[in-house]
Amino acid sequence: MATQTIVAKGIVGLFQPRSTHMVGDGFPVRNLFPSNELDREVSPFLMLDYAGPQYFAPTDHPRGVGEHPHRGFETVTIVYEGILAHRDSTGNAGVIGPGDVQWMTAASGIVHEELHEKEWAKNGGTLHAIQLWVNLPAASKMSAPGYQTILNVDIPVVLLGVGAGRLRVIAGSYQGQSGPARTFSPVELYDLALTAGQSTTVTFPEGHNASFFVLQGRASVNGSQAAGEAELIVCHRHGSQVTIAAQEDSRLLVMAGAPIEEPIARYGPFVMNSKAELVQAVNDYQAGKMGHLAGR
Ligand code: MN
Repeated sequence: MATQTIVAKGIVGLFQPRSTHMVGDGFPVRNLFPSNELDREVSPFLMLDYAGPQYFAPTDHPRGVGEHPHRGFETVTIVYEGILAHRDSTGNAGVIGPGDVQWMTAASGIVHEELHEKEWAKNGGTLHAIQLWVNLPAASKMSAPGYQTILNVDIPVVLLGVGAGRLRVIAGSYQGQSGPARTFSPVELYDLALTAGQSTTVTFPEGHNASFFVLQGRASVNGSQAAGEAELIVCHRHGSQVTIAAQEDSRLLVMAGAPIEEPIARYGPFVMNSKAELVQAVNDYQAGKMGHLAGR
């Protein structure tokens, strides 16, 4: 009988944000990629913007990003603190708060706005969130747009042992629990809290990329150098097993999935496979084919 050997994943490296900027007037972000050139190593993920934590004073004019388009991928917004409101040209709208996730499929094209929620903005408060862009396979880039509001209560929580921490399964599965997010290609997305001095082992399908973003604390992966706040540990796709060890009480976002081995062409809010497709995206947006927000 063949023996299946479990191979520990090697480490590509530890990365820090290489761009700090405002998105609209409401999202002060530190970008981990694409500002670090990691397209192959983090695929199917295209972008990681880490917003805040930052305090916003009370205002009657909610900050954020006004009407803008996307085509060719999905935007995934994870809120840790604060409340965000979203609406788009397909008529979908939603409000997400701490522990909630919004999984928006732009696919063939969508126009949306992403704002601080009105009542929350009136009181002011700390915003702390992540926006990830997840690529779509070429065959799905022109699919119909979609929208999933994934509430905190709908995300399974796996306890890691007495006092060791917990892992919330947003997408993919872990120890028999499946996350609620519907995805176009295999993705594992976990919100992990680990207590100082504890570790946990995760096994991914062979060949999946895997990276680990530290929001809080200090943690290492398979004996890597420890990563602190806003640092990213990226693993090689070969191998399947990782052991995450926390040197301090830590909160991490675990991002893994089957790489999409297709050309990437980017232009602002559009991510396609070729320059011609980007030109088409700009033309389609300008012609109004991605729609508009109601009341505009
Ligand atoms: Mn957007």
